[in-house]
Amino acid sequence: MYIDSHCHINFPELSARLPDIFRKMEENGVTHALCVSVDLPEFPQVLELAEKYPNIYASVGVHPDYEETPEPSADDLIRLSRHPKIIGIGETGLDYYRLEGDLEWQRERFRRHIRASRTTGKPLIIHTRSASEDTIRIMREEGAGTDAGGAGGVMHCFTESLQVAEAAMDMGFYISFSGIVTFKSAKELQAVARAVPLERMLIETDAPYLAPVPHRGKMNEPGLVRHVAEYLSTLKDIPLERVAQQTSDNFFKLFKLSRCGTNAET
Ligand SMILES: [Zn+2]
Ligand SMILES: [Zn+2]
Repeated sequence: MYIDSHCHINFPELSARLPDIFRKMEENGVTHALCVSVDLPEFPQVLELAEKYPNIYASVGVHPDYEETPEPSADDLIRLSRHPKIIGIGETGLDYYRLEGDLEWQRERFRRHIRASRTTGKPLIIHTRSASEDTIRIMREEGAGTDAGGAGGVMHCFTESLQVAEAAMDMGFYISFSGIVTFKSAKELQAVARAVPLERMLIETDAPYLAPVPHRGKMNEPGLVRHVAEYLSTLKDIPLERVAQQTSDNFFKLFKLSRCGTNAET
């Protein structure tokens, strides 16, 4: 079994073909997926998917790239996360790559997500791009990690250095690898994935983006997360079955889930 720990199947290009997406998940042994929220206006769709399908979980959060969107208070996030299928807070974090200028609002938004995570005990789903120093600093300052009484979480779609991975792991965080690790050009990231222990790894698609090899350039979907696991199995010279089992165990452990049934409707 494989679990896609981060996807956006509520985005129109994927939500328009859900039966096909669920069929491909089943064909590939992908038993569960976490549909990650990016803003408050779209949150009802994300929640609806999680309520409708037993093997789809969801999160609540506002992505750092979304500038013109209703700003969530920590209380909003806490209130909206009070649902058994809302298992995490995010995606949140910092992105200095896409946006320029004074990004203090991004850092403030990130801090409010961390506070909501600490209050609810629901782990953080962290996005960081060209901003790793500030990301780690704010995680420490706000006590995001399990070492500081926080709920911990996952560094999603990881593309940073091993030092950044280690700093996050020291705070009890997991490191999630996406299709990017399968790209020929991603030599440095592959070295990082070799060094991160399997016990701290998750796998994800971030669908509809970033399809793994051999589907690079096409639309991504949760069923393709198997290719990330296969790649990591070869890279780390660990049997595929162990990669599948351990990354699934890690997912259930991080998000404090019992192993519940798969989706009967597919
Ligand atoms: Zn992201
Ligand atoms: Zn995402």
